[in-house]
Amino acid sequence: MTMLKTRFAPSPTGNLHLGGARTALINYIVSKKSASSKFYLRIEDTDHERSKQEYTDNITNSLKWLGLDWDENIQVQSKRSSRHQEVAKELLQKKRAFKCVCSEEKITNQRKLIRENKNYSKKICTECKDDIDIQSKDRDYVVRLDVPDEGNLKINDTIQGDVSVANLQLDDFILLRKDQSPTYMLSVVVDDHDLGINYIIRGDDHFINTFRQYYIYKFMNWDVPQYAHIPLIHGEDGTKLSKRHGAVNILDLKKDGYLKEAIINNLILLGWSNNNEKSETIDLKEIIENFEISNLSKSSSIFSFDKLDFFNNFYLRKENGIKEFINFCESDIELNKYLQKDNTKMKNIFNVYKKDIKKISDLNDSIKVYFDENYKINKTEKLSSEFDIIFKKFLNLIGEIDDWNRDNIQIIINDFLKNNKIKFPVLGKPVRFLLINSYQGPSISDIFVILGKKDTIDRLNQYIGD
Ligand code: GLU
Repeated sequence: MTMLKTRFAPSPTGNLHLGGARTALINYIVSKKSASSKFYLRIEDTDHERSKQEYTDNITNSLKWLGLDWDENIQVQSKRSSRHQEVAKELLQKKRAFKCVCSEEKITNQRKLIRENKNYSKKICTECKDDIDIQSKDRDYVVRLDVPDEGNLKINDTIQGDVSVANLQLDDFILLRKDQSPTYMLSVVVDDHDLGINYIIRGDDHFINTFRQYYIYKFMNWDVPQYAHIPLIHGEDGTKLSKRHGAVNILDLKKDGYLKEAIINNLILLGWSNNNEKSETIDLKEIIENFEISNLSKSSSIFSFDKLDFFNNFYLRKENGIKEFINFCESDIELNKYLQKDNTKMKNIFNVYKKDIKKISDLNDSIKVYFDENYKINKTEKLSSEFDIIFKKFLNLIGEIDDWNRDNIQIIINDFLKNNKIKFPVLGKPVRFLLINSYQGPSISDIFVILGKKDTIDRLNQYIGD
């Protein structure tokens, strides 16, 4: 198998969101299919105004949390400007790039003609390159790539297939700005080449850039990498996934109590399915074994939060769920206090509620109720007279339970219902209400176990005291 070098190259102009995480995940998986392959991380911070250190931190922390570790040091684009400039100079020397001094006004006018389809050719500057005086200037110029006018360029993309574009449709884009700072279009190619990247997997919003960037590789006599442009993910309303659809940033999802296994499982099934498998749940190891990028769908996929909730619930219920819950609580000031106070109670709450929750933070309100030392029954509720008749008897009975465990409690409740010829809801619903101020929730024997004998009886006694 060829040694593949893949990379994830985010711009630190925002937090890592689901779309970016999916691109990183696919690059990571492809690189993990063979022991000799590598996965690199590059921070593309050439947009000085919008790039922020906090976003770089967010991106690296998100990737680490997801377990998508990169090989070697992070490549930081802004630190490599002189290398980018060196390549631009070489292209100038080879006459594959040229200096341009066109005025803003002229450029705006050219762009307008192109936009209005009056100029089929997308070339912005047609005169500077043949002007000897301009080409011998030593400042106040931008450097543009001399992309040919004639012919077509065909690129084979693993996902998009063979796609041809007329060279006239490619612009003579800028490599160095007037202050001689390199543009993303130049930097990305130089950095990928220097890292030895031979497989570029990125969002299909960059597909047209590939045709432009191809000419830098060609003019420098560098090997052109293989490309795979993956379709973007959309929200359920068909528009590009954004904040409007819910939490889409990875660390926000972490904060809500989503597990990385659920996020990865959900992301990888967007546009890909694990052949022959009935179950949709798949772990990273199995994904690495079975995933083939060439089987990824060409059309955009819809991200569904219901699906994410489904996977998260599945992973929370698994053996490891309790460990994840404890980790989650330890990293939260408030929840950690409860954990320190009564670790067993916290574990009981999780074990009883896990089947019904979508994310760990769904438990926050319930935890508060169980730990409330000043718990008060919501007085506005009037319980049935049928309940009032049996309640004291029930309270006396449970007061006698010595071994306060779920099975014992369950037997006592069942016998009580049978002996008094009453249906469960007559007893169960009001008791649940008295204990947690809600008619909905777990079985009362589970609530008894979570609260323990003393709290259960104290809370129920409040009703007697009324
Ligand atoms: N920095 C670009 C972005 O965040 C990605 C460039 C690339 O993958 O080639 O959109």
